[in-house]
Amino acid sequence: MYISTRDNYEKVSAAQAIKLGMVPAGGLFVPEQIPTLSLEKIFALKGCSYQAVAEKIISLFLEDFSSEEIKGCVARAYNGENFTHPEIAPLSKLDDRTFILELWHGPTAAFKDMALQIMPHFLSLAVRKVEAHKEIVILVATSGDTGKAALEGFKNVPGIKIIVFYPHQGVSRVQELQMSTTDGSNTYVVAVRGNFDDCQSAVKNIFADEEFKAVLAGHDYELSSANSINWGRLLPQIVYYFYAYLNLLTQGEIKAGEKINFVVPTGNFGNILAGWYAQKMGLPVYKFVCASNENKVLTDFFNTGIYDRNREFKQTNSPSMDILISSNLERFLFELTGHDGKKIKTWMDELNKTGRFQVDADTKKAMDEIMAAGFATERETLDTIKEVFAAAGYTLDTHTAVAVKVYEDYRKESGDMHKTVIDATASPFKFNTSVLEAIKGEQTTDCKDEFEVLQELSKVSGMPLHPALKDLDKKPVLHKRVCDKGEIKEVIGEILGI
Ligand SMILES: *Cc1c(COP(=O)(O)O)cnc(C)c1O
Repeated sequence: MYISTRDNYEKVSAAQAIKLGMVPAGGLFVPEQIPTLSLEKIFALKGCSYQAVAEKIISLFLEDFSSEEIKGCVARAYNGENFTHPEIAPLSKLDDRTFILELWHGPTAAFKDMALQIMPHFLSLAVRKVEAHKEIVILVATSGDTGKAALEGFKNVPGIKIIVFYPHQGVSRVQELQMSTTDGSNTYVVAVRGNFDDCQSAVKNIFADEEFKAVLAGHDYELSSANSINWGRLLPQIVYYFYAYLNLLTQGEIKAGEKINFVVPTGNFGNILAGWYAQKMGLPVYKFVCASNENKVLTDFFNTGIYDRNREFKQTNSPSMDILISSNLERFLFELTGHDGKKIKTWMDELNKTGRFQVDADTKKAMDEIMAAGFATERETLDTIKEVFAAAGYTLDTHTAVAVKVYEDYRKESGDMHKTVIDATASPFKFNTSVLEAIKGEQTTDCKDEFEVLQELSKVSGMPLHPALKDLDKKPVLHKRVCDKGEIKEVIGEILGI
């Protein structure tokens, strides 16, 4: 069963937690008990496929789903059509101690695919279990990347329609084409005359519009979101921590039971938290290293115990980590305080009111035992891409480069010699201009459009262009809707035929 981090809701089943997304009164769902795997059981998975490991881990958390259902979800998500690598999340060796876990072989070239390829299938089943006759309408406001990952995940999933809103002329040409060329019988993409905030607040207003929701309910439609705080998005991420460990065992890089580190480029704290759950389940982990860019709220938090979002927001070259409120931290604190929902509610209320809260000494101590944290500047990020390319011939994206730099600093300072896995969260092609400029110098991208930059990066890195970004300019544009920000409700009605 799943419980609220703020002690303000009844226990619910996994299907209900996934269908609800978050606790209606505020708060996030977490498992009441974390299932554990003995070392013997973990080692028994050695040599298993990614799919087999996924089935095993996921079934421990979704007790109201049958093993056939879970098998079906895994097969529809992690297959050769959606992922460009047979291992789904392969490991690359950087040096004797350091390995890169490539989480970007999915259909949109970033790690969100690891969760968004399977979560829609969980949701589709969850709705059938809880309210069989309803059709779900997913609304997404996107500044570019999440929209495409959600479209790819939800397309052709039965019982669900997805509508994505993005700022008209406010995303890159590649991002726009990625979305507007999406096929699938249940996908809708709308350009909104306005900026991202306009899209986001319009969507938020619709979620709060009881009258409109009643009209939708009359037609058996229910709104939902693909939000990253849904347990259904966190759970699939636990899998690759086990898979990476098993992979190191198979390759003879570690001995059974040997502890390793994971370094995670962090924004909303979902990815690294999934790793923490893996450790709680029994995976031998020594430290997690939380890597931030110049929006270093989390670095400061782990160093001082004070979370303070009152600071300037910076737009950096690792934009997916440009975040000042890391939503999933709430789950982590709930776990570390031994499920003290009252305490969490107090801290979250303070964060809401003042933008700041401070944890108590016991919680700080519990954090210190398992977490290290650091940050990298934009300049350091680019230098790291250049250095790693020169030394190892390996091309990093900007987010992964942040993690590599933070790990280098951590290793120097701590002398920690454990084998270490660094999560690579995006393909270098996804942030092509920064990566190419880092390797070849800033002038290389002058007068080139993004498609030319992609070709050049492919040549320089020796990597084939990720299929998600290939021939985009030659695919048919299937979505051409444009609307004013005041018209979003009408557009939804038109799409749903009501
Ligand atoms: C979303 C994202 C992150 C941050 O992950 P969280 O789970 O939000 O911490 C890091 N890198 C990339 C490329 C991302 O898309």
